[in-house]
Amino acid sequence: MKKNALSVTRENDFAGWYQQLISEADLAEESGVRGCMVMRPWGYGIWERVQFLMDQRIKQAGHENCYFPLFIPLSYFAKEAEHVDGFAKEMAVVTHHRLMKDEEDGLVVDPDAKLEEPLVVRPTSETVIGTAFARWVQSWRDLPVMINQWANVVRWEMRTRMFLRTSEFLWQEGHTAHADREEAMEETLNILELYRSFSEEVLAMPVIAGEKPENERFPGADATYSIEAMMQDGKALQAGTSHFLGQTFSKAQNIRFQDKEGQFQFAYTTSWGTSTRLIGGVIMTHGDDDGLRVPPLIAPYQIVVIPMLRDKPEDEAVLDYCQELTKELTQLKAFDETVRVKLDKTGAKASNKRWGWVKKGAPLILEIGPRDVSEGNVSMIRRDALYKENGKLDSHILAKGDFVGQAAGLLEDIQSRLHGEASERLNSNITRGFSEFSELEAFYKENKKYPGWLEVQWCRATGEELDQIEERLKKLKLTFRNVPQDAAPVDGNCIFTGKPAVERILVGKAY
Ligand code: AMP
Repeated sequence: MKKNALSVTRENDFAGWYQQLISEADLAEESGVRGCMVMRPWGYGIWERVQFLMDQRIKQAGHENCYFPLFIPLSYFAKEAEHVDGFAKEMAVVTHHRLMKDEEDGLVVDPDAKLEEPLVVRPTSETVIGTAFARWVQSWRDLPVMINQWANVVRWEMRTRMFLRTSEFLWQEGHTAHADREEAMEETLNILELYRSFSEEVLAMPVIAGEKPENERFPGADATYSIEAMMQDGKALQAGTSHFLGQTFSKAQNIRFQDKEGQFQFAYTTSWGTSTRLIGGVIMTHGDDDGLRVPPLIAPYQIVVIPMLRDKPEDEAVLDYCQELTKELTQLKAFDETVRVKLDKTGAKASNKRWGWVKKGAPLILEIGPRDVSEGNVSMIRRDALYKENGKLDSHILAKGDFVGQAAGLLEDIQSRLHGEASERLNSNITRGFSEFSELEAFYKENKKYPGWLEVQWCRATGEELDQIEERLKKLKLTFRNVPQDAAPVDGNCIFTGKPAVERILVGKAY
């Protein structure tokens, strides 16, 4: 019987498994400040890969990077009521700029060092970037403006969970301004597609792209679109959002330009973001009871070479062989990039190193002992398929040259197998065909542990009607996810109101 590397299994305690994986795979740890985490090199290395590959795509789509300040004057928020309402409860605010020594209390805030105007630690940068757009844009010739920034943001979240929902998180936020509505909407949807394809191709994480209902919109947006990924417990993770902001922010911040006829017009703006939450998505999509399985495209190291050192004279030959092998592998290309190889020379016991890398989820792990050296072989473990049918670790002995010849192909194969496995799960866990709310209720009661998502027809309710529907769903711990872009046409009535349906929408439990 196989014994797993993690003591908590997904089946027994999914949330506990998630926490344990993060710690055992050396991804991140608590920092002592609630909701703020320390990202360790393996976790941050995955983020750097996400960042690098996402950045390429954002630039290819015509955007440039820039950087805006961490602090935003409070008055900037006051200009857009809905926006400030949405974020007010989550804002960290700086009010003083100096400490002083107090005889009784030690270091305290100096009451004389009060700022004239409080500064908000950015929760998102529409307000400050919009102010810059107003300076940059005068004529139709200045449009479109298409920028992106990589930054940290702070939202004082009450219920935090590493990567998924933290008080400080790292993200990219794109902001664009356009001369007309159509172009801004096209941008919003282009980015949605960029996020969708990035998630599928790079993270091997299948998602459904679509529009959010009115009450789930970004504060101040005319329309919000999301990509939703299905985690292994059947819950949804909103993995990225793209907002069509219409003229809300351009009117609040006076982003005006003279059109070709010399008339003043307000621009149309968009904003969109993805964050370190994506790593939480990767964990809950690809992790197993032995730890993480990192898709090769985002693995900091794709191949790890472990010399089986035993403090014996033959160690030197083993190390030489591993060094030579590492050099050969480093000359390979996979996915049009140089293969990332790590020679793990640390002093730990070889079997501990093996399980360490299994838990971290390096895609290919090579173990090299004196016997491999004398026979010119490598012993290879594929992280995506660890065990044989009998539960034994499935390590393959290959001639070194054969492995070097196959390595790039193996990495590409692992990437597509992980995607295939996750797609299969997503596709087989969306249930359709409900014609009444009571059927949805019954389904949910029967499938408590693993309901997956439900796709239902509805009337695209808004306002109070939508609030009432939300309340009904909330009782079942369900929320609306999105209206899939590629859903089938409607052919019935809204399961909530009985009115003619206008679209299909996904419902599910969510993170
Ligand atoms: P928003 O600006 O609210 O549309 O957020 C953009 C994206 O950032 C969301 O789609 C999430 O993927 C991510 N995100 C939002 N809040 C958090 C958080 N507290 N921690 C991590 N990621 C977040």
